[in-house]
Amino acid sequence: MLNKIVIANRGEIALRILRACRELGIKTVAVHSTADSEQLHVRLADEAVCIGPASSTESYLSSHAIISAAEVTNADGIHPGYGFLAENADFAEQVEKSGFVFVGPTADVIRIMGDKVAAIAAMQEAGVPTVPGSNGPLDDDPARSIKIAHNIGYPVIIKAAAGGGGRGMRVVHEESTLVNSIALTQSEALAAFKDGTVYLEKFLGNPRHVEIQVLADGQGNAIHLGDRDCSLQRRHQKVIEEAPAPLIPNDLRSDVAEACVNACKRINYRGAGTFEFLYEDGAFYFIEMNTRVQVEHPVSEMITGVDIVKEQLLIAGGRGLTLKQHDIHFNGHAIECRINAEDPDTFMPSPGKISYFHAPGGNGVRVDSHVYSGYTVPPHYDSLIAKIICFGPDRDTALKRMNGALDELIINGIKSNIELHKKLINDSEVRIGGMNIHYLENKLASE
Ligand code: ADP
Repeated sequence: MLNKIVIANRGEIALRILRACRELGIKTVAVHSTADSEQLHVRLADEAVCIGPASSTESYLSSHAIISAAEVTNADGIHPGYGFLAENADFAEQVEKSGFVFVGPTADVIRIMGDKVAAIAAMQEAGVPTVPGSNGPLDDDPARSIKIAHNIGYPVIIKAAAGGGGRGMRVVHEESTLVNSIALTQSEALAAFKDGTVYLEKFLGNPRHVEIQVLADGQGNAIHLGDRDCSLQRRHQKVIEEAPAPLIPNDLRSDVAEACVNACKRINYRGAGTFEFLYEDGAFYFIEMNTRVQVEHPVSEMITGVDIVKEQLLIAGGRGLTLKQHDIHFNGHAIECRINAEDPDTFMPSPGKISYFHAPGGNGVRVDSHVYSGYTVPPHYDSLIAKIICFGPDRDTALKRMNGALDELIINGIKSNIELHKKLINDSEVRIGGMNIHYLENKLASE
C-alpha cells in the first residue's frame, strides 16, 4: 500500500487524485509552479512543494524537480495524472529507478504504445481490430508504398509512428501525390518528433470516436469498464463525452471490449488505460492506446460505480485488481461537458480572474473542478476549468439533467464555452446520438 504520493499535475485532475488519496488514507504532496500556489489541491494537500516557474517546461515537465520533491517529502509514489509527463516512458523509468512507484504502466509498455507502429502490431497479435494499412513502417521504395496504397484503396492517411495530439498526419486522395506526401510527412515527423518513421492506413471518411476503458494489474488480471463515445471534437480536442456509446449493437461492443482485455493480458498491462477506436459502418478500428487516466474517465465511473483513480492507486500499491468482470454492472447513461476558459466565438483562451463561480447540483450531477470564486485562471496551461458530468437512468434523462446543470452553472469574470455546450445538448442530432467526428466542426462552419 502506498503511504504518500506526489501528485505531479495541476487543475481538476490533481484535485481528483487528491480526493481519491484521502479516501484511501494516502498522504498527498502537491507540486506546483509559482503560478499555481492558489490551486485548491495545493491548499488541501498534506504538503506542497513549489517546483519551478510558471512555464511548464521548467515545472510540470521537469522530471528532476518532481522526483526531487518526492525525495525530500519522503513520498513513495508519483501519480502523473494526464498530459504533462503521464505518457513519457523516460519519466516513468526515472521514477522507478529512483525508487518510487510510478502510478501507471511500466516504461516498456508506455514506450510500445507511444510508437504507433509497434502498438498496432501488438494489437493485431492480440486480436484487436485495426485499420487496414501498411502493417509496419513505409520504407524508401516508392513502388512498394504505391502498391500498398493501391491495395488498400484511396483515400489513405500517412501517419507518423511517433505522432500525437493530432499532429503528424496527412490524407492522400490520389496516387499522383502519394510519394511526395510520404516524403513531406517523414521530414515533418523527423523535425517534430525526432523520428521520421511513417506508416499508412485507410482513411475513414465519417467515423465515430469510440473508446474502451480498461483496468489491469500486470499480474494477469484485466477487466473493461465499457465504452465511451467522444466524437464531438474540435481540432481533435474532445468537447463532450458519454458512456455508453449510443446505437452500437451490444455483441459488437462486448467483442471489442473483450479483445482489449485480452490485449492487456498479453502485453502485461498495469493500471488504467484506454483503447481508442474509430467506428464506422458497424466496425471498430484501433487507432491508439492511452496509457493513463483520461479526462473523460468520470462517465465510465458513473455507469459502473468503479472509482478508476482509486483502482489506479491500489494497483500501483501492489494490491492487484480484485474486481472481476462479473462484478461490473452497467447502469444508466452519463455525459460530460468540458467547460473551458475560452472565447465562445474565436475559441481563444480566456484566462483571468473568476469573479464569481457557482457550480450546479442535484440528482445525478457531478462537478469535477478546481476553480472557485476569486480564482485566477493562469494563461500558461490548458483552458479546462470544469467538467460537468450528468448521470441518468437513460440517455434522455442524462441530457435533461445536463441542460439544467448548464443553466445553473455561473462563471463570471472570464469567457467560457457554456453556451456552446447548451447549444450542443439541445441539438436535434445530438439528442439522437451517434454523430461522427466531423459533426461539431461542420456545425460550427455552417453557422
Ligand atoms: P494522435 O495520437 O495524434 O491523437 P490518432 O491516431 O489518435 O493520433 O488520430 C487522431 C485523429 O485523427 C483521430 O481521432 C481521427 O480524427 C483522425 N484519424 C486518425 N486515423 C484516421 C484514419 N485512419 N481515418 C480517418 N481519420 C483518422
